[in-house]
Amino acid sequence: MDYQKHFFEIYATLESIENTGEVAQYIPELSRIDASKFGVSLTTIEGKTFSFKDANEKFSIQSIVKVLSLILAYKELGKELWKRVGVEPSGSPFNSLVQLEYEKGIPRNPFINAGAIVIADVLVSILKKPKEDFLKFIQNIARDNSITYSKKIALSEKQSAHRNMALVYLMKSFKNIKNDINEVMDFYFSICSIEMTCEQLNKSFLFLANNGSCPIQQKEIIRISQSKRINAIMQTCGFYDESGDFAFRVGLPGKSGVGGGIVAVHPGKYCVSIWSPKLNKKGNSFLGTKFLEDFTTRVESSIF
Ligand code: GLN
Repeated sequence: MDYQKHFFEIYATLESIENTGEVAQYIPELSRIDASKFGVSLTTIEGKTFSFKDANEKFSIQSIVKVLSLILAYKELGKELWKRVGVEPSGSPFNSLVQLEYEKGIPRNPFINAGAIVIADVLVSILKKPKEDFLKFIQNIARDNSITYSKKIALSEKQSAHRNMALVYLMKSFKNIKNDINEVMDFYFSICSIEMTCEQLNKSFLFLANNGSCPIQQKEIIRISQSKRINAIMQTCGFYDESGDFAFRVGLPGKSGVGGGIVAVHPGKYCVSIWSPKLNKKGNSFLGTKFLEDFTTRVESSIF
């Protein structure tokens, strides 16, 4: 399959549509991104990569990291983890406080901010040197030591993190945060600040298209049963209150971030990553979603 040709053709058809999205404003450092950037890259489980435009430019992966932090916590804690966080779609915005009050501090799923903050708390408890150990975990999966944090973006988020601080204090009051709040949030802002290119994202997520094992290194990252569950949560919760719409339009498990990135996997086939900074009202990349919708429709390749 000549994916490159499809990327080129789909991009040409989308150039004329109006992108009504907006670059994330609430993290000042992200609001300065060049909104016209666009990159897409697909890596097959056989190891072939097809890239287009800015696929080799780094951007802030933001909430996409929540899949990797969940994986590390799940590997360490096993099913005990589900006592601290659920696996149901929330139907609410990613930073919502509403459900958390009447569900007594147990977040609906690990991909809304509250859930990812609980996962950060779990990792702060488990890891000896949380930031170093977590980065090593990702660098090993991707076989790439150039992946790193952006101190500038982490600090920028920290300085305007009023909603996330409200979430963590509320959960602390329900005793679902065990560590010092500042330590947990410092770790959370750091992991959200990780920067990657589309190609690096593919290398970091390809194992989810291959039953939990890296097809290039023939190395198990997580068990098949765990890979099934992670993909299921991506499918049902990866796009917050737009997860149903993403399944309907694109038909692949995936995860978005407010940096404008989306990663999606087709189990047994490929991992595809896309970057376009302008976000729709639900905080997901406007053009990224549209592009993936056209892509899976055109190449007739979705899980449904
Ligand atoms: N760091 C961001 C936040 O907590 C991540 C949100 C996102 O990418 N959806 O708000």
